[in-house]
Amino acid sequence: MKRLPEAFLEELRRRVDIVDVVSEHVQLRRAGRSFIGLCPFHNERSPSMSVSPERQMFHCFGCGAGGTVFRFLMDIEGISFMEAVVQLTARANLELPDDIDLTVHAKPPDVRFQQMKDAHELAAKLYNYILMNTDAGVQALTYLENRGLSKQTIFDFRIGYAPDRRDFVVSFLQRRGFTRELLAGAGLGIVVGENIVDRFRGRVMIPIADLRGNVVGFGGRTLIPDGKPKYLNSPDTDVFHKGLLLFHHDVARKEIRKARTAVMFEGYMDVISATQAGVKNGVATLGTSLTPEQAALLQRDCDRVIVVYDGDKAGISGAKRAIDIFGETGLQLSVVSLPNGLDPDEYIRNYGSSSFARELSVHAQSTVQFLLQCLHSEADLLSPVGRTGFMRKALELLAQRASPIEQEVELRKLAGEFDVSVATLKEELRLVEKPAGKKNFHYDKKTSVQQKEAALPKGFIEAGNRLLQMLMVSNEAFEYLQGKGLDELATPEQTALLALLYGWRITHPEAGPAAFLDELDDESLLGVATSLLIEDPVQFESRLVDDYIRTIELHRTEESYKQTLAKLVQAQVQGDLEQTAQIKLRVDAYLRQIAALKLPGGRTEGQG
Ligand SMILES: [Zn+2]
Repeated sequence: MKRLPEAFLEELRRRVDIVDVVSEHVQLRRAGRSFIGLCPFHNERSPSMSVSPERQMFHCFGCGAGGTVFRFLMDIEGISFMEAVVQLTARANLELPDDIDLTVHAKPPDVRFQQMKDAHELAAKLYNYILMNTDAGVQALTYLENRGLSKQTIFDFRIGYAPDRRDFVVSFLQRRGFTRELLAGAGLGIVVGENIVDRFRGRVMIPIADLRGNVVGFGGRTLIPDGKPKYLNSPDTDVFHKGLLLFHHDVARKEIRKARTAVMFEGYMDVISATQAGVKNGVATLGTSLTPEQAALLQRDCDRVIVVYDGDKAGISGAKRAIDIFGETGLQLSVVSLPNGLDPDEYIRNYGSSSFARELSVHAQSTVQFLLQCLHSEADLLSPVGRTGFMRKALELLAQRASPIEQEVELRKLAGEFDVSVATLKEELRLVEKPAGKKNFHYDKKTSVQQKEAALPKGFIEAGNRLLQMLMVSNEAFEYLQGKGLDELATPEQTALLALLYGWRITHPEAGPAAFLDELDDESLLGVATSLLIEDPVQFESRLVDDYIRTIELHRTEESYKQTLAKLVQAQVQGDLEQTAQIKLRVDAYLRQIAALKLPGGRTEGQG
């Protein structure tokens, strides 16, 4: 799956200690056989992340993050599995196997890439110094202060100023050993004939970082009123891909994970003002429209995205595009349009931080409400033809995207506005409604899973967990379980893990649990699996397996008994004597089975 020999990964796992690696990011302290620390993946005050040196695993009991050392590095540095392997291989003084095709997964650390990042880092420092400490920066600093940015915010975002000089930054960097070619390739300079000159001149410089916090590009805002372009961005380079990065994502990620919500703004200044106003989970695209890759980046960390857009034409079409792209992901989406066509930055300056935060929570529209509002403002409602056209489009929209409750609410509003009865509109809606039309409407899956789980008896879930523990740790358990016909556990997650483990054990009879975790791509399953492994997993014993299977069968049989009993009552109420007698037989059979399963060491005599 990862195209790396299992033996090599095993050796790597043996040589690297997860405690050392995690310690570089998190302060750990001993607690019994494990270490605990503040989880870096969600905000917390008391530690809920546990790192086990024995198991070589980490697990957070707060947010469910977990896995082996590979997963830890992938998550904390935002890198791929292969990149984590490359990093740890160097750390363990191992050589990568020769025949590995690195280009399939990721590029190896490249000297040139590193130099490009170093050049940006130095440039950011220089620009910031110019802004804060020199006469050349006074005008820019005054501009930023007039826009309401505090010194702390300027410092946090590392904002700077590029003086209006021909080759200020490129000659500074050349004196520090960066070549012309590198500076041109990094987008910091532009080659003009024999010379190289600065790309950014007379602009406020906003550094853009990758997920690891390396500066890889800039957005430069002009100080000239009506100067064009208003923002000049770094071009796409080997280290800067506008469609794959989000502004401020490296810093906002923690907050996004904590709130399970991201706020999507249009521009850099919106993110900066919002952050200063206390909305810290904001990101923005880099002067281009949202890509599916960017949406996927956010999806890893949250369930909900709030799109905040300017009321102008470009803002509205950007929001529509965001709805299309996020609609594919299944993320819950709301849209906020600020009053009077203000952008977030202007809004905060006019009305203050607290009313901005309130605006985000109170005035967030659903996508249906937003799209209806767009239709409404585009329609010619004065002419009868325009009104009918609007109604038709509105009903189509409701049929395609709205939940039943939303339909009800919006139909009532339409009925009020256009003076038609709700009943008539419902009739019309039924006509445009197609059976498979509700593509973009997502029920909240998570909540329903949690509710289901809460209703399940504890012993049922417990038995499944113990069986999964045994399967991950020992092949013996797998061989013993194979003949038992067990293919479903209490929760969908447990059942999915069971199926994956059955498949995995066939090809990996000797492997330990870490190898299984590293092949799990699904984050929620990974969370469940590590939570089971981080505490002492039960060891395989056939007697225990029998017990757990019996517990599972007991709960299943009780479930069937309850359902059949309900049917019996129904048949009795309907006075159907024949059916009543038939169902009664089945109920009695279930009762006998349950009694047998409840005996110590009990067995079922047959399946119900
Ligand atoms: Zn956590």
